[in-house]
Amino acid sequence: MTDILMVDLTPNEFPSPFISGYIILTDYHNFINIEQGPASKAPTVIKKIQENGFSETSKLYLFVTHIHLDHAGSLGHLLNEFENAIAYIHPRGIKHMINPDKLWNATKKALGLVADIYGEPLPSPAGKVSYLEDGASIEIDGEVFKIVYTEGHASHHQSIYWVNEKTMFVGDSAGLHIMEYDYSIPTSVYPFNYKKYLEGLDKMISYGPEVLMYPHYGVDEGGVDSLRRHKEIVSEWFEIVQKNLDKGIGDIIDEIRKRDRVFDKVYEALKDNPIISQLIKISIKGMLAEAERLKEEGKTR
Ligand SMILES: [Zn+2]
Repeated sequence: MTDILMVDLTPNEFPSPFISGYIILTDYHNFINIEQGPASKAPTVIKKIQENGFSETSKLYLFVTHIHLDHAGSLGHLLNEFENAIAYIHPRGIKHMINPDKLWNATKKALGLVADIYGEPLPSPAGKVSYLEDGASIEIDGEVFKIVYTEGHASHHQSIYWVNEKTMFVGDSAGLHIMEYDYSIPTSVYPFNYKKYLEGLDKMISYGPEVLMYPHYGVDEGGVDSLRRHKEIVSEWFEIVQKNLDKGIGDIIDEIRKRDRVFDKVYEALKDNPIISQLIKISIKGMLAEAERLKEEGKTR
């Protein structure tokens, strides 16, 4: 029977669960992995695949949502470990996985110590990486997966829709999901594209998913309703940012808390969590940059 496992890929240094990967075992003992996690957690993914019966005749299919190192940092390790493996990456991301030097340097610059906690990626062998067009599907042992380009969080982002199970692997295209509050914080880090982020949500909604699987974090049975709700959240946050372009990040957070009572509760509960509070700040920073860009674009028209 086709089975799915969730694997926690949170680095040991983090205070709470932050990264979840997913492994699907098909009827024919082949394996599909969505969200590979950071390089430092490659041994966890490898062990999970091996202990679930990966054999000489098994094949490993790797779907990369996007190349950020908390998501695809262990891709090179996995492709080197498993002979019979192939990765599907958004076309804009492929060259950075084959030669991750630029990606690694940029990550170190952006994240500092956290980059070291994620670990340095290994180059992916060029013969083992490929891509699928937006909307294309691939069938693996009767399981059908559709590729949905969702480029607002990053220009190299794709979601993966598992048709048989009406399940969307959303990557970072639908926010950071806080299960206890059923709330998703926008993942609008620089260079955030507001229009493409909303388009991505609409595309995913059009498939009618019943289940969402987040890398940050876990499973959400809210499906389409959760995606619609996230669209409202992102629009509201962005509207507030646009009206407060001259304000600091702290003031903008206060303004969002005033307008959005659920976020107020989420913030109160998680403000001391360094990873989440940092993400909230950099997401607002990304929105500020995007709002400035759109304002400039409006002027030159
Ligand atoms: Zn990301």
